[in-house]
Amino acid sequence: DEHLVIMDETAIRRALTRIAHEIVEKNKGIDNCVLIGIRTRGIYFARRIAERIRDIEGKPVQVSDLDITSYRDDRKTAAAGLKADIEIAAAIGDLNFSVQDKKIILFDDVLFTGRTIRAAMDALMDCGRPQSIQLAVLVDRGHRELPIRPDFVGKNVPTSKQEQIAVSLKEFDGKDQVTIIHQ
Ligand code: 5GP
Ligand code: MG
Repeated sequence: DEHLVIMDETAIRRALTRIAHEIVEKNKGIDNCVLIGIRTRGIYFARRIAERIRDIEGKPVQVSDLDITSYRDDRKTAAAGLKADIEIAAAIGDLNFSVQDKKIILFDDVLFTGRTIRAAMDALMDCGRPQSIQLAVLVDRGHRELPIRPDFVGKNVPTSKQEQIAVSLKEFDGKDQVTIIHQ
């Protein structure tokens, strides 16, 4: 397999700093916003943005995890998709805040078909009526199957279906790097 580095540590750091500023600008501050990181790497992505926003705005920002197993990361069967929906619903049921009238910002590492985000939005909407839901992703690799688009993007990476994105984040993988893998 061929690995090509598309974001190194510096590029990731700059993208995160830019996204933090974009979120603050779009929301005219951070009041009433809740950052929600989806599964493994989306959680670290959300936490890092929360730290940067705290530095920019000088006040804490609410951040929460959707800590669910990564069925959709590995297997893309219908059964795995259904399982992911159920797990996301269960995980959101465990969130310790109300989504009512909140500006929710979802974080995931890679956006592909959009099905994970749809499931997360469905589950959130079952818990109340958010004022809005925004989406931040580190990499948008294309191939959407639903009318979903991210509000904040680290890097747009047009991929073929044979290519995969590998995201490494320090907290989980020991280093910050995004590569594209051609099989
Ligand atoms: P979707 O639900 O949009 O089809 O896929 C997005 C979810 O699957 C995200 O949680 C993401 O982590 C994972 N995913 C999809 N494609 C890739 C990929 O090429 N690389 C990585 N690392 N994750 C992916
Ligand atoms: Mg994932």
